[in-house]
Amino acid sequence: MRTAVYPGSFDPVTFGHLDIIERSSKMVDRLIVGVLDNGLKNPLFSVEERVTMLEEVTSHLPNVTVTSFHGLLVDFARQCGAGLVVRGLRAITDFEYELQMSQTNRIMCPQLDTIFLTTDLRYAYLSSHTVREVGRFGGDLSAFVPPVIVEQVLKKFGHTDLIEGKQELEDKDEQD
Ligand code: ADP
Repeated sequence: MRTAVYPGSFDPVTFGHLDIIERSSKMVDRLIVGVLDNGLKNPLFSVEERVTMLEEVTSHLPNVTVTSFHGLLVDFARQCGAGLVVRGLRAITDFEYELQMSQTNRIMCPQLDTIFLTTDLRYAYLSSHTVREVGRFGGDLSAFVPPVIVEQVLKKFGHTDLIEGKQELEDKDEQD
């Protein structure tokens, strides 16, 4: 059985991540999305929230599971019985860091290989950071993240008035 892990911060998950998850899950028997628990100083979402959101948006993919992990990626991969790490590449700026990380991991764990999927061009510009910045000011997030995530981000920043469907619900309440 071929098992891969796809690690990241996913704060929050975007269409770019989802595209990598969908494509890589077709290449393996089991894909484990690992939400890193020691990466970010001030995350927008807690690790538990990030895991739940990822579970929601990957529920249509039967061989994908989501879990959090703490510590070294090589240890997490070993615990999962995974021989592959999946990472996404957007631009040359990702490359140096990714290359260094995959080489370090191979020194620590020679059986562990990293495969890189190039981003879908539609999402080449997209990062969780962009989503957080646009969300903070109540911008339209629909091109960046699935609707359930739009709602969570807007809620986090207190923009509940911008949540789609809310106006209809309020109108209905008034009529009732
Ligand atoms: P990290 O903090 O580990 O970089 P991220 O959540 O930012 O975690 O990203 C996880 C992985 O997904 C990384 O390999 C990153 O390059 C990739 N990724 C992020 N955004 C995109 C995107 N828009 N298209 C393709 N890959 C992406």
